[in-house]
Formats: sequence, structure tokens, C-alpha cells
Amino acid sequence: MEDCVFCKIRDGEIPSPKLHEDEHCYAVNDINPKAKTHILIIPNKHIHSIAKMEKGDETLIGHMVKIARDLAAERELRGYKLVFNVEKHGGQEIFHIHMHLLSD
Ligand code: AMP
Repeated sequence: MEDCVFCKIRDGEIPSPKLHEDEHCYAVNDINPKAKTHILIIPNKHIHSIAKMEKGDETLIGHMVKIARDLAAERELRGYKLVFNVEKHGGQEIFHIHMHLLSD
């Protein structure tokens, strides 16, 4: 998707070290962290928001949750939050689904 920051990071047009990458999603550190650990898990597929998910996308979201769990386990986080901001009124600023993994 043209002019989408997360599509550009996916394609390497915006450099950002990937903490994880597979055929379904990737993970990067948030550029403006709100917690000691603040990682974004982002699907390769451009989907506007959770509100705009289509049939079959739930498998992808489940995969993202598993990757977040694995990243947290690797970092030995004792607890964390997984957050989706949904649409403008839910605080979403970038309209390509992403899950925040937050831990202090
Ligand atoms: P949201 O409000 O849920 O749409 O969150 C968007 C998040 O993306 C914010 O926490 C931003 O700090 C983060 N962000 C914006 N641009 C970048 C970037 N180039 N690399 C990593 N994180 C970014």
C-alpha cells in the first residue's frame, strides 16, 4: 500500500531492524517507546484495522499473538500487555494493523 509506513518497513524502504520476520508478520521496536519494552508485531498483509478484518484474517492475528508470546519469552518478561488500537477514536494512528507488546 502506497504511503504506508509499515508496508515500507516490510519492504525495506524504511530501514528498521527486524526482531522477527516470517512469511506472515514481522516485529520491530516502536520508534517512540511508551514502556521499557515496546515492540510492534505487524502482519505483512496490509489490513487497515482490526475493524476491517476479513474472513481468514483471524488465523493471522492468532499467529501474531504467538510471535508476541515468543518474543516476550525470549526476553524473559514476567508480564506484558498486548494492545490493538482500533480506528481513530481508539487511538490508532497508523492504518495497517499492528499489535503493541508492552512491558516495564
Ligand atoms: P497506533 O497509535 O496504535 O497506530 O501506533 C502506532 C505506533 O507506531 C506508535 O506507537 C508509533 O510510535 C509507532 N511508529 C510510527 N512510525 C514508526 C516507525 N517508523 N518505526 C517504528 N514504530 C513507528
